[in-house]
Amino acid sequence: MNATMASEIIKTVAVLGAGTMGNGVAHVFARAGYNVILRDVEQRFLDRGLETIGKNLDREVKKEKITAADKSAILARLKPTIDMTALAAVDFAVEAVPEQLELKVRVLKDADAILRPGVILASNTSSISISKLAAETSRPEKFIGMHFFNPVPVMALVEVIRGRATSDETFQTTMSLCEKLGKKPVGVNDAPGFVSNRVLMPMINEAAFAVMEGVATPEAVDAVMKLGMNHPMGPLELADLIGLDVCVDIMEVLHRGFGDAKYAACPLLKQHVAAGRLGRKSGQGFYKY
Ligand code: NAD
Repeated sequence: MNATMASEIIKTVAVLGAGTMGNGVAHVFARAGYNVILRDVEQRFLDRGLETIGKNLDREVKKEKITAADKSAILARLKPTIDMTALAAVDFAVEAVPEQLELKVRVLKDADAILRPGVILASNTSSISISKLAAETSRPEKFIGMHFFNPVPVMALVEVIRGRATSDETFQTTMSLCEKLGKKPVGVNDAPGFVSNRVLMPMINEAAFAVMEGVATPEAVDAVMKLGMNHPMGPLELADLIGLDVCVDIMEVLHRGFGDAKYAACPLLKQHVAAGRLGRKSGQGFYKY
């Protein structure tokens, strides 16, 4: 079977985790016509995820991207559940639980035990090795990274990451599925930070060093990158949006993964995190909100 055919027999998908990324992933699958089983650990997390999807769909209705009838049909395709055994019925699964290795391994092992043998299991991890996660399952050739970007319904990119054992068919099927979601998939191989964070995070880190060393204010660093490089956001406003704690965690993944001192997190970033200045989510980071 070729990959386009394989992706065509996918009708029902599971999304594990209804948080920031999971509800966005569920949104785009349901919008593209897939039935979605959205699984979280408590009903209140599912309710919050569905509320977010409802609000985001309202925005699409307002912008005339979809009709009110489309919205109802999309919501009707979403089946929230706390029951893991519902995964037995799906043709594809994406994991989007918090970025903690032990938790991910537990959730992936549980999913692996319930999913039918031929079903592809994808992880939305932003920094954990895909080959390592794959090795925890009985289906490493059917395991892949599917790295969506926040906000998922808006951002075009999906970084599709091949682990050491990922089969060509799994890779092609996942690429084809991303296109059916209206996304632009880019295939990369498994390495610390993949491509997105390996290129982005050192830039943010360097911007933090420029501030720490008194080369420029955060406003000036961001203005240089916006006006001179045409970036829509400066690296430090972007860091505040991502979360300075997340930035430090990802720098540590790069530092450990490559063993190269050039990836050491900037002390100013670490100081902000230690002081609870995590960016937008805490009301202060490089800027005040
Ligand atoms: P989040 O904390 O917003 O959501 C995680 C959800 O998973 C929560 O609702 C939580 O209740 C649920 N959960 C916990 N244990 C579970 C289990 N056993 N089964 C099912 N659900 C469970 O986190 P997030 O920001 O959506 O991040 C999810 C993943 O996406 C992480 O791996 C993260 O690195 C990655 N990611 C995040 C972003 C981002 O900008 N937030 C971008 C790209 C990738």
